[in-house]
Amino acid sequence: MPASENAPRTVVAIDQGTTSTRAIVFDDRGRILSTGQREHKQHFPRPGWVEHDPVEIWRNTRHVIGEALADAGVTRHDVAAVGITNQRETAIVWDRATGKPIHNAIVWQDTRTQDAVDALAADGGVRRFAAKTGLPLATYFSATKIAWILDHVEGARERAEAGELAFGTPDSWVLWNLTGGAVHATDVTNASRTLLMDLATLDWDDELCAAFRVPRAMLPAIRSSSEVYGHAAKNSLLRETPIAGILGDQQAATFGQAAFDAGESKNTYGTGGFLIVNTGTELVHSGSGLITTVAYRLGDDAPRFALEGSVAVAGSLVQWLRDNLGIIRTAPEVEALAKTVDDNGDVYVVPAFSGLFAPYWRPDARGAIVGLTRFANKGHLARAALEAVAYQTLDVVEAANSELDVPITELRVDGGMVANELLMQLQADALGLPVVRPAVAETTALGAAYAAGLAVGLWKDVDELRALWAEDRRWEPAVEETARRRGIARWRKAVERTLDWVESDTP
Ligand code: ADP
Repeated sequence: MPASENAPRTVVAIDQGTTSTRAIVFDDRGRILSTGQREHKQHFPRPGWVEHDPVEIWRNTRHVIGEALADAGVTRHDVAAVGITNQRETAIVWDRATGKPIHNAIVWQDTRTQDAVDALAADGGVRRFAAKTGLPLATYFSATKIAWILDHVEGARERAEAGELAFGTPDSWVLWNLTGGAVHATDVTNASRTLLMDLATLDWDDELCAAFRVPRAMLPAIRSSSEVYGHAAKNSLLRETPIAGILGDQQAATFGQAAFDAGESKNTYGTGGFLIVNTGTELVHSGSGLITTVAYRLGDDAPRFALEGSVAVAGSLVQWLRDNLGIIRTAPEVEALAKTVDDNGDVYVVPAFSGLFAPYWRPDARGAIVGLTRFANKGHLARAALEAVAYQTLDVVEAANSELDVPITELRVDGGMVANELLMQLQADALGLPVVRPAVAETTALGAAYAAGLAVGLWKDVDELRALWAEDRRWEPAVEETARRRGIARWRKAVERTLDWVESDTP
């Protein structure tokens, strides 16, 4: 019997990422049936500026949905729901009447608003709004990006105040377009990255909107991460299919890893590294350099919170070895090169290319390679680079442990770098804990699919999802404690060598 004669048993997840947009069709066991993917152009109009064209992103989204449905051989009748996950913080402003963006998207990596951030921090420091938002003041988050657009597009501020313009992170933009302009909403996890939401009320906050000069009239409705927001437009491939899950990418990966309960965590190794620890219904404010954020909220249930440790450079260090040093031709080659040596030869790489993020938060740091002797070779460098990724993760895990009643006992991992088995072993060794890789490595898209499927009853509850999580491989620590301690001490000493490098008159 063709699938279309049964109740729909698949979910489409749209992953609107920084470099590409993907659509993945999952079956009701959380297995991947097909994937469509398309990259979009990165615009760098000036140093430090990063933009995307929202119209291109929407065009790509439609394209990859078509591709994924065709590849899986399914139609909208087989799709129970659509979930969305996305690059977080990126700001898009569009005209409600025409649906056209008034400016390119300003991407999370964009630092053009540093002056605005410094001006706000001059009064109260970077933690000025941390109690309310969980976030330090930084160009990373959406608020100053929105204000920049309103200040630089003629007439935009007045039109925003009059309610004619809409703001959204990429989830909102995709949702608006999928529903043919019928729904302007976001979920709590995305809203928690704007600097405009109060974590206690889960609503936009007038004091924050005033401080950042963002009119409330342009903000989307804040909804849960799992509920029916609306239905795909009548003239679309997925017409009338419920859109029922939204989670920011790191929160989606946490959900896809089935880290639903307090104390459960995951670490993602992509361009950067992101540790998320679920703190349950408790809002934990970090004294050790971690961000407080919303993990997820299912319908009307109590929200679940998380601590997040963001590491700026992980996979991009491997890209640097490839593109800037040319000692490898492809990223995976770093593993073979690192295996040409037995150990790091006492060489340490600290990739503080643009300062250090969590838990150090030192914008004055710059990268260093220390411990070089005449003996050191490119194999040692490759190994030290992988160890740097492992040690940075150790640093955020230790920061998280200092905030938690029960420390992390094993690390669930995902992201592009987990294909590197030597890195996985080095990570287990650095932590002195098991490292566990799941069978479905596409945890980000899977998390969005889970949130959507839950809302429409394809899955009953999170316990059912937990049962779907399966281990692919596990790495146990294989290093003696004294050697482990020594390596960590050497790493920390290397980190110290990078601090206080940028002087105020250094560009
Ligand atoms: P993102 O989602 O941030 O684009 P991905 O999760 O796709 O990142 O991971 C890509 C990153 O992982 C790149 O920076 C790449 O250099 C790195 N990478 C990919 N494969 C390997 C590997 N086998 N060993 C080490 N690094 C790798």
